[in-house]
Amino acid sequence: MVAKRLSGVPASGTVALSNLVANLKLQGIDIISFSMGEPDFVTPENIIESCKESLDAGFTHYTPSAGIPELRKAVAAKAFSDNKIHCTAKNVLVTPCKHAIFMSSLAFLDPGDEVILPDPSWVSYEACIRLAGAKPIYIPTKVEDDFIVDPDLIEAAITPKTKMILLNSPSNPTGSVMPCNTIKRIAEIAIGRNLMVLSDEIYESIIYEGKHHSIAALPDMFDRTVTISGLSKTYAMTGWRLGWAIASENNIKELDKLQTHSISCCVSFTQPAAVEAITGPQAEKDAMVKEFKKRRDLAVDLITEIKGIDVNVPKGAFYLFPKYESKVKSEIFCTKMLEEAHVAVTPGSAFGPSGEGFFRMSYAASEEQIIEGLSRMKKFIENI
Ligand code: GLU
Repeated sequence: MVAKRLSGVPASGTVALSNLVANLKLQGIDIISFSMGEPDFVTPENIIESCKESLDAGFTHYTPSAGIPELRKAVAAKAFSDNKIHCTAKNVLVTPCKHAIFMSSLAFLDPGDEVILPDPSWVSYEACIRLAGAKPIYIPTKVEDDFIVDPDLIEAAITPKTKMILLNSPSNPTGSVMPCNTIKRIAEIAIGRNLMVLSDEIYESIIYEGKHHSIAALPDMFDRTVTISGLSKTYAMTGWRLGWAIASENNIKELDKLQTHSISCCVSFTQPAAVEAITGPQAEKDAMVKEFKKRRDLAVDLITEIKGIDVNVPKGAFYLFPKYESKVKSEIFCTKMLEEAHVAVTPGSAFGPSGEGFFRMSYAASEEQIIEGLSRMKKFIENI
């Protein structure tokens, strides 16, 4: 009875693992989870207060499908000041980040189209591309290149069917941050070959070395780019499901059309709180990034002590993507680690063919958990 478009599309590896961990914890098993990419901090108080005020004021009904005007305006102003993207409120659609990727696939891809993306890449890109009937074309990246995609390989992979290049910097799962030159070169290719770019910048604020660059800010790129970002990671607001897409007015209209037929609009009382997040005090956000950097350094130090592990130092996001020496498939490797060491990490193969032989560790966990979890991991790996 199930539609053909769902065949060959697995459930999200990250979400499935997090469900499994929640279940094991319910059974009283002491699991240390490095599985889910979500900050362990509580959303800053000023944002929560703003949401409570909206609820108390009865702001509990539908909003305009594209989002409340104040939030669209605030996102456009932020995009201009932080990302140098020249846009107005009309270029912004307020929508959960993952939904923005899903809708962009439906709105801009036809069956048979090809989408070029770095490998490894976050689990849901391939699924969204396939659900639109299109085909992912993976460009392998390597640990020794800090997982930076080579623009020449992108160019070589272009065929008459190529419609889009999908980028994600800082990257989930590798934490790599694309240098400005790489982004410029990819922009040249997109312009020269008349391709769209979908740029997922959800980790834009979590960068430890280097700088974030938005491809839509480059000359002649705005109209062909959909830039996606949101509040989940920056302000520890994963459960709020609030983000945005920035694109040309026409493309935003098409995405909004899909929004009207899917979720209608984002949750009303969270939207004024999102304005507060973007325009209010940023000290807590900055403190979280500092804390993530400390945890990255700790996690890298501890994991490099494990024999048979090869890891690079990621410049952004909150993931390590270590390579392990054993020939065991990453899914089996991670299942065994969960069963025997009670440590949850995501198999690298969930992120694309180049992820085989790797696993993803989210270090958005407390220092105590990182120390205990990596000590368990060391015993497990060194006993294999
Ligand atoms: N993006 C996060 C992760 O990769 C949350 C789960 C998901 O949406 O995949 O862990």
